[in-house]
Amino acid sequence: MLYRLKDAGYQAFLVGGGVRDLLLGLQPKDFDVATDATPEEVRALFSNSRLIGRRFRLAHVRFGREIIEVATFRGTGGGGDGNGEHVVHESGRIIADNAWGSIEEDALRRDFTVNALYYNIADYSIWDFTTGFEDIQRRLLRLIGDPETRYREDPVRMLRAARLSAKLGLDIEPASAEPIPRLATLIDDVPPARLFDEFLKLFQTGHALPSYRKLRELALFAHLFPATAAALAEDADGSFARLIELALRSTDERVAADRPVTPMFLFAVLLWRPVQRLAPELQAQGGELSDWQALAAATAEISAAQSRRIAVPRRFSLPMREVLQLQPRLEQRQPRRVRRLLQHKRFRAAYDLLALRAQAGEIDQALVDFWTAAQAGEGAGNGAGEAAGTNGRGRRKRRRRRRGARRGAQAPAH
Ligand code: ATP
Ligand code: MG
Repeated sequence: MLYRLKDAGYQAFLVGGGVRDLLLGLQPKDFDVATDATPEEVRALFSNSRLIGRRFRLAHVRFGREIIEVATFRGTGGGGDGNGEHVVHESGRIIADNAWGSIEEDALRRDFTVNALYYNIADYSIWDFTTGFEDIQRRLLRLIGDPETRYREDPVRMLRAARLSAKLGLDIEPASAEPIPRLATLIDDVPPARLFDEFLKLFQTGHALPSYRKLRELALFAHLFPATAAALAEDADGSFARLIELALRSTDERVAADRPVTPMFLFAVLLWRPVQRLAPELQAQGGELSDWQALAAATAEISAAQSRRIAVPRRFSLPMREVLQLQPRLEQRQPRRVRRLLQHKRFRAAYDLLALRAQAGEIDQALVDFWTAAQAGEGAGNGAGEAAGTNGRGRRKRRRRRRGARRGAQAPAH
């Protein structure tokens, strides 16, 4: 595709994370292309392409299952061909970045020097307009230009600094790191949907634990998870801190082993202690709430507050709430309840959270062992008398499903 652009008379370069990762000796995740062709010209050249984005317009070109992002060189207006706009809000934030420019201008508006290296396919050379090449060798993450100005233009760059340093094992160069704790409050104005995208990149791509530690170190974490940070500040026995670290480590291990991960589980972990603390407070405020009602109300309130910060799609936040609300139910061991809980859609995730809570020293391991045994019993088909009336897996499955359906019908009554 680079050659198609070149043959049509345009410049075409590989740029960004892909080039950076190659030079660092890592496996690149994807390649981005930068060109002097406008998005419309790219669109005209590739039938398998479409234009996306508003704040940052670019073309997506599809090759089988892969999508390559093709971006036109950006400038800061003035010298451009007047095709697009570069708009800076009075706060210093860039709200539109669609003024075309030269490759050098394009390099200078990128975030870090190591992200601004251009691989020219015409002669296999690397073009460096900053100190990217040196910084790769010194393994330094350095912001291009004046750090404070650049963070004000786009506060997400602070999260990117934390993420890329954690993911790539690069040090953040001191002048690039210094303003971050001071400017961390700017994160509060980033649209919650964009923060969810960043959350996924920080916590679901195999380096969640180092990212979390970096975010804490740079005072950014409290702006993503305020209730979690407040609970960590009052975590006398350290069990909540341990719970979070254990969960992040296990998430990283799952990613490394190519097993599926879901943001719903980490959100449940991160919000567990805030919910646990709020429930009795709500009860104390009166209103005669039962334990269950207080827990449900606390879960709803904490989850709603968190969603104002990071826009978690409902397909994750609803199951997350179920996982939290199942925690005290796992303390009940009456056989009838046990059988029901084992069939609950969120049992497995709730059990995983329970196990981590025990590992973190918050609760007794015996409770986890009980549920481990209960599952083993169920799996072997000798669960508390249920096997007696059945003659084979199929039939037992049918019975379970019916019971599940009944439970569903009763749910609103609890
Ligand atoms: P990853 O390996 O996680 O994809 P990346 O650096 O490629 O890391 P992308 O989000 O894919 O990150 O961005 C591609 C390139 O676009 C970056 O390398 C950087 O040059 C530029 N870029 C991305 N986000 C910003 C930003 N907020 N401000 C300035 N430049 C950015
Ligand atoms: Mg990338």
